[in-house]
Amino acid sequence: MKLKFLAASAMALALVAGCTKVDGPPRQLSEETTALFSAIPAGSGYFATDSTLPFQAPDFSKITEADYLPAFRQGMDIHNAEIDAIKNNPAQANFDNTIVALEISGAMLNRVANVFFALTGSNTTDRLDAIEEEISPELTAHSDAITLDPVLFARVKAVYDARDSLDLNVEDTTLLERTYADMVHAGAQLTEDQKEQVKTINTALSEKTTAFGKMVRDATVAGALVVDSRAELAGLSNTDIEAAAKAAAERGMAGKFVIPLQNTTQQPLLPNLENRAVREKLFTNSVNRADQGGENDTRLILAEIASLRAQKAALFGNPDWATYTMYDRMAKEPKTALDFMEQMVGPLAETQRREAGVLNAQIKKTGGDFDVKPWDWYRYAEQVRKERYDLDEEEVKQYFELTSVLENGIFYAATQLYGITFEQRSDLPVYHPDVTTYTVFEADGSEMGVFYFDPFQRPSKRGGAWMSNFVPQTYLKDTKPVIYNVLNIPKAAEGEPQLVSFDNVNTLFHEFGHALHGFFADQNYASVSGTATARDFVEYPSQVNEMWATYPSVLQNYAKHHETGETIPDALIQKIEDAAKFNQGYDFGEVVEAALLDMKWHALSPEEAAAINTAEAVDAFERKSLEELGLEIGLVPPRYRSTYFNHIFSSPAGYSSGYYSYLWTEMLDRDSRKWFIDNGGLTRENGDHYRATVLSRGGTMDYFEMFDNFAGRAPDVTPMLEARGLTGDEER
Ligand SMILES: [Zn+2]
Repeated sequence: MKLKFLAASAMALALVAGCTKVDGPPRQLSEETTALFSAIPAGSGYFATDSTLPFQAPDFSKITEADYLPAFRQGMDIHNAEIDAIKNNPAQANFDNTIVALEISGAMLNRVANVFFALTGSNTTDRLDAIEEEISPELTAHSDAITLDPVLFARVKAVYDARDSLDLNVEDTTLLERTYADMVHAGAQLTEDQKEQVKTINTALSEKTTAFGKMVRDATVAGALVVDSRAELAGLSNTDIEAAAKAAAERGMAGKFVIPLQNTTQQPLLPNLENRAVREKLFTNSVNRADQGGENDTRLILAEIASLRAQKAALFGNPDWATYTMYDRMAKEPKTALDFMEQMVGPLAETQRREAGVLNAQIKKTGGDFDVKPWDWYRYAEQVRKERYDLDEEEVKQYFELTSVLENGIFYAATQLYGITFEQRSDLPVYHPDVTTYTVFEADGSEMGVFYFDPFQRPSKRGGAWMSNFVPQTYLKDTKPVIYNVLNIPKAAEGEPQLVSFDNVNTLFHEFGHALHGFFADQNYASVSGTATARDFVEYPSQVNEMWATYPSVLQNYAKHHETGETIPDALIQKIEDAAKFNQGYDFGEVVEAALLDMKWHALSPEEAAAINTAEAVDAFERKSLEELGLEIGLVPPRYRSTYFNHIFSSPAGYSSGYYSYLWTEMLDRDSRKWFIDNGGLTRENGDHYRATVLSRGGTMDYFEMFDNFAGRAPDVTPMLEARGLTGDEER
């Protein structure tokens, strides 16, 4: 759910450049820049011009599926003509005629992409899916050609080299640096010989990562647990046992039972299996799926991938792959991310041992005579959880009616913090009848933007929840944010109250946190506006907004029983919060371990990576990376072992050296919650301060500086550890 929001906007983001916070008055387009594109013929069709609806909101009453393909192609042609105009400009390159011109280029392409990719996510059709498949490679090639254009890069570099003598504000400077850095990152500065070497490495990476993915797939299929008798599956539901019988029949083993493996180390059916030997077998199959020799053993190939990446980074002058990929992140370098994670190891290991103690006691209490192992962990943790925090989801739901959550909870908290208000409107065409729209007003009553709310599950919508913009905020083009939140809440039957689970309440607050980040954007340039921020930063404001879901005065206002009107009892909220701290030595520990593995593999120099060239060396490196730190990997193995870590090894870049991002933004989030609480909680003063220092800054400045402006200090990991129950010695 957390990263989903990026996927929807990734394509749109990839098509534009980048920028920061306004120091002076909003920038106007210069006559020179406007004139640059004036000879280029406009396109035709709906997307050729800005929408004439309020806020340039898309006019879904006019857009048809036949509009997209021609608009994409025309949009690319026009964009190319604009790029040519920038390149062929006889005037010397300057900030305006090169960087700003690049920034405003591709307007038609962005318009169609912003609508099209919104719909392929939230309300797709076979036709839209087919268009996406057809157009995606063309868009990638289009964007690559621009980023790697040597003539264009020469102009960008000329401006970049002169940057100290230019009178640029912070946002301008960031836009310039980002435009330059993105092109350098793509390879604009390499010699022809180096470009050839990168190409060779890219081809090898593409082949090997694809092969890794396939081997993991095959290993996962082959690792399925096979048992001969129904008795061995005691504890599973009849449905699960029938599914296991069917899976066996499909594999030509009629009469037996097969439990297929899931991607993660832990397997969902483990807690229910009563037979300990069967549990051990299923777990062992999972954790050793791809390290048993033979054709599905991924150890050598993953070492080769790590080695190729280190070599590629070296061609770009970087010491390791993580440094190369983290150029645009908040943490910037692997050491920062590693130090951050290593700070957690002590408390985490201690919690893992403490939890193991609790589970060992539970095992004894229920007649067992063994110490807990990973294959026993969730079986006994679930027993303890039931005893301590038995939560009745249905009971909780009765207090969360969707409209009340949105209007009396989410909107209410935003009004208290920022003074902004909301008014539902009925004049804007929507892409599905379940979508509602609201105007958002500033505290002074002026219009701030439009919010589209699309809450319900339907077959045409992909899973998860996300936020993005139909129209980004930018002073340069004088646009205000048009933002949507998409969720997958099960729709109540006709005539039934629309209740939502507590998980979904959190998700609603989370996605609206992204929306606030977008609404408070205060930028000249779309590429650094609002949520156009680093991967290890973008989830921070959205997570912070989740804190108001359980804030007492907000709960008082929205969490009311749909029949009795009674506010949710404190004891129930307390139970929810206590339950969230349970079993974190495992739940959180396995994630931290996976993130550590990711970063350790990608912080290797080419020489170090090349030295890991046997299956045994891979095993040793993995063990050393975790065990030397003191983590109890015999009790709590990583969520993914290196050998089946698809996120980092199954595509040329994927989420490599990025898995820590979830943890990093959580640190920023929990530390910020502490700041709010220490300073009086839900107040206008606090909200305005957060808005001024963080929510309005987009990606315009150094993120550590931004955090320091907000909190008056560097981010601290302690509040996150506390929130996860990883401090103190209370028995959980
Ligand atoms: Zn998110």
